[in-house]
Amino acid sequence: MLLYTSKLKMDQRGNYQFELHEDIKPFEYNGESVRFAGPVVIRGEIQKHQDYSTVTGHINGKVILKCSRCLGEFVFEIDTAFQRKYSETADQEEVLPMKGDRIDITEPVNESILLELPIKGLCRQDCRGICPVCGSDRNENHCNCSQDDIDPRLAGLRKLLKE
Ligand SMILES: [Zn+2]
Ligand SMILES: [Zn+2]
Repeated sequence: MLLYTSKLKMDQRGNYQFELHEDIKPFEYNGESVRFAGPVVIRGEIQKHQDYSTVTGHINGKVILKCSRCLGEFVFEIDTAFQRKYSETADQEEVLPMKGDRIDITEPVNESILLELPIKGLCRQDCRGICPVCGSDRNENHCNCSQDDIDPRLAGLRKLLKE
């Protein structure tokens, strides 16, 4: 994901506007392969300063995740932003290197997307998950398995409480 300021339009304030449509490759997250449902759109601007540039960007995209309860796939919307400093003499921490008019935003974009992903994603807030007894998707089938069969330890506790 490269930006070249010499190829970008400068606005009235002297900032460079950009818009990228990136096809990002699938990546590993929590042991699962995560893929994008389409190109990721990154819009933003570059502010040039004396010896550094500031890049501000908004990221919009859709990733396909696996529901942690029913294991079905669902689309998760990414809507996030980043701001990073770039310098040709990147001597400070948190400042990324740039070369001439070339700015690589791969790192802040990937980082921001990762931060947006849920640790335990759900296809919907009230996903009923998979029945631990018969294995059917409880969002679609109403099986008649007894709730008491779910966890013998819980059943034991229930019995104790009744006594
Ligand atoms: Zn689900
Ligand atoms: Zn069942």
